[in-house]
Amino acid sequence: MQDTEFYEALLGLSDPWRVTRVKLDTPAGRVDVWIEDRPGGKWKCPECEKKASVYDHSEERVWRHLNTCQFGTYIHARLPRIKCAEHGVRQVSAPWAEPGSRFTLLYENWVIDTLKECDVTGVNRLTGTSWYEAWNIMEKAVARGLGRKKNLVPAHLGIDEKSFAKRHRYETLVCDLSKGTVECVLEDRGQESLEGYYGQFTKEELSGIKAIAMDMWDPYIAATRELVPDAQTKIVFDRFHVMGQVTAALDKIRRQEHKVLMANGEQCLKGTKHLWLMNEEKIPDWRKEEFDEIRKMKLKTSRAWAIKESLRHFWHYRYPKNAEKYFKRWYFWATHSRLKPIIKAAKTLKRYLPNILTYFKHPITNAVTEGLNSKIQTVKQMACGFRNRDHYRKAILFHCGGLNLYAGAPSDSGASLATTISGVAHAKL
Ligand SMILES: [Zn+2]
Repeated sequence: MQDTEFYEALLGLSDPWRVTRVKLDTPAGRVDVWIEDRPGGKWKCPECEKKASVYDHSEERVWRHLNTCQFGTYIHARLPRIKCAEHGVRQVSAPWAEPGSRFTLLYENWVIDTLKECDVTGVNRLTGTSWYEAWNIMEKAVARGLGRKKNLVPAHLGIDEKSFAKRHRYETLVCDLSKGTVECVLEDRGQESLEGYYGQFTKEELSGIKAIAMDMWDPYIAATRELVPDAQTKIVFDRFHVMGQVTAALDKIRRQEHKVLMANGEQCLKGTKHLWLMNEEKIPDWRKEEFDEIRKMKLKTSRAWAIKESLRHFWHYRYPKNAEKYFKRWYFWATHSRLKPIIKAAKTLKRYLPNILTYFKHPITNAVTEGLNSKIQTVKQMACGFRNRDHYRKAILFHCGGLNLYAGAPSDSGASLATTISGVAHAKL
């Protein structure tokens, strides 16, 4: 087998493309492969797909391809240009690369796989691409994925805020709770941001939303009420956020009480913070005795803790009516506890109760979103040096968007390299 035939087979080329020359440069560690189109071929106009014969060839271009063994491999070709009766002189696109790219489809897909596993600097070391090239491949992959994605509104949405870089700067994550993916990242956490997301869809499409998990955050509520039909039956306040209100109140009471006790030389609450905050059954065996002892001391913290623990039973109900009855009893207890932070938290929950009770119809939470949050935390660390918010958002969509990122659109050339490549791309999905 000749080297040219060998490379034709390796690259999966077929008529009218063929390999005309292969050059191995051992000291430089590279293989150069020249591809040409067979003379007399007819090509489709990229605009109208009408066939036309070759008018001339463009300047030679070079594409970085996957290595051949340890040798960097480069493809050279002069792409044919056709003269379409309607569209004039047009360049035929190469089946092995996207227009304008310096990399073959397979190479880009390899960089994409590498980007998924390590930070951009690591990708640069492994693939020999520059920072900008790797970023460019990531950006193109996201654009490709978004372009392929059907613009449908998910049936179960999760809306969550995420702080960006410094404190007090926020992004809003809109997630598809069924798929566990980030739908989009919105600037800010105001009403307008979320309205911007809903605004892409028609009323009819928005009425397809079944339920939306969110925090008790008024701008999100307002945006949803404004634009989503029947919002009042669809908003579900995240149960972990609901519990968080009471847990935060408990922690405030513990801090205050600890201060008072310490002033009197009493250290019993020292080092107990997490025991109060965690679920009762999670308390480690070796601390149970100590915890039981403190609870017998009739502290305010113990009372607040009992109120917190009892609210956990609320979530076990199946029917909203029963849950509501339970809440009323709990509310009476909480508001008569003489524990100010607990009373305040209880009143907040009562104010939001209708959309806390929707949980019993749509038992969704933002736990998925929380999971994504930690993935995003990793993305943040991995993509060290996001130069701006836009990069950050794109990286989130790259890693958490569930997008079809791979290069390899079906080509009109008929060359089987494209089919091989799209085969590879699909196998990766
Ligand atoms: Zn044309």
